[in-house]
Amino acid sequence: MQRTQRLPTSEEAAKSQHHADAAPTTVEAVRAIDAIAPATGTAGQVAEGVWWIRLPVAAGPGHVNVYALQDRDGIVLVDTGTNAPQTLQALTEALRFLKSSCGTVRRVVMTHHHPDHIGLAGWFAEQGAEIVATRGTLAVARRMLHDKTLLRTPEEIDFAVLSGMKDLELAAFIRRPKRRYADAVAMLPNATSVIADGETLQIGRRCWRAIVGNGHAVDHLTLCSNDGLVISGDQILPGMSTNLNVPADHPNLDPIAAWRYTCRRIGERIDDRSICLPGHHTPFTGIAIRSRQMIASQEAVASRLLEHLQRPRTAIDCLAAIYRRTLSLAERTLLFPEAVGYMNHLATRGEVVGLPRGKTIVWQKQRRPRGDAIRRDASQTISRLYNFSSEVDETR
Ligand SMILES: [Zn+2]
Repeated sequence: MQRTQRLPTSEEAAKSQHHADAAPTTVEAVRAIDAIAPATGTAGQVAEGVWWIRLPVAAGPGHVNVYALQDRDGIVLVDTGTNAPQTLQALTEALRFLKSSCGTVRRVVMTHHHPDHIGLAGWFAEQGAEIVATRGTLAVARRMLHDKTLLRTPEEIDFAVLSGMKDLELAAFIRRPKRRYADAVAMLPNATSVIADGETLQIGRRCWRAIVGNGHAVDHLTLCSNDGLVISGDQILPGMSTNLNVPADHPNLDPIAAWRYTCRRIGERIDDRSICLPGHHTPFTGIAIRSRQMIASQEAVASRLLEHLQRPRTAIDCLAAIYRRTLSLAERTLLFPEAVGYMNHLATRGEVVGLPRGKTIVWQKQRRPRGDAIRRDASQTISRLYNFSSEVDETR
């Protein structure tokens, strides 16, 4: 794998086999390219030199997809699954399946720091593989690997209170031990390689461009090849939404704006025929359509929230409106950062305002959109988070 800043020429792109002979078509729907996932312990070829491996994961959709890319000297593995015995067994079996034709894993590229994606990267490093990730992914993963405490930090408790958690719920949140990141992610080596936005990776005959974005995770990496393949991690997913959480250490982030901005940047690199290789579920075509579907479902949530915020409420009081059901205490303590994300996003758009009530923020729909509302829709942190306004009528 060679790293280079050079971009492929249009001639090189046209020469690539994938799509080269295909007549241009307009994709009008999101279509799975292969609805049947490879069995556990095997790998399914989805393009020349690209294999799809599905691994078991305890949480979420119950599985994660990783991709093995054939390079000149072995395999480049994009993501690894969780550091768990059954995941390692399934992955090593699948790689054994590929070994005779592709060789062993020489490099591991990590899309983002979540345990189901990078848990085994450190294990591969111990076998001699090079680890490649964005600066943000490495920084967050290393910080979390060294956080061995099971207790909530003061920062996390303050964030929960700010979001509206209180009384018994807050007590349970504080009392319940955290899940330790290091229990699901093998220790990473000190020597790793950083990939930055816009850089390209030459893997086999393909050139993959890095799009580093935010919203789902810090410095999430999406790889777009010069022949229409997109390894999207958890940025764009079929059949499920992607979590857009606000982290306790950056309570003013607008993850929705950041995620949309990243989608737009990916959209500049793809066409209707591009094939998305997502972190969960099934590879598909129709990436632009799927992005619009995901935005439409976020907008449906936003509409429900604006209705819900006719009267002032905390972010955590909005969870039922977001999920359209009553959540258990365990779910509320896990999912409230997503509610804060929606509050921050609607505040950015000037559609809600946040008012301090003690240590908590109470949100309410703007009586009328402010003419000077911040309408930024980019990857930056919002500098004016809580748009305290005298226009709010709390008595309505
Ligand atoms: Zn993720």
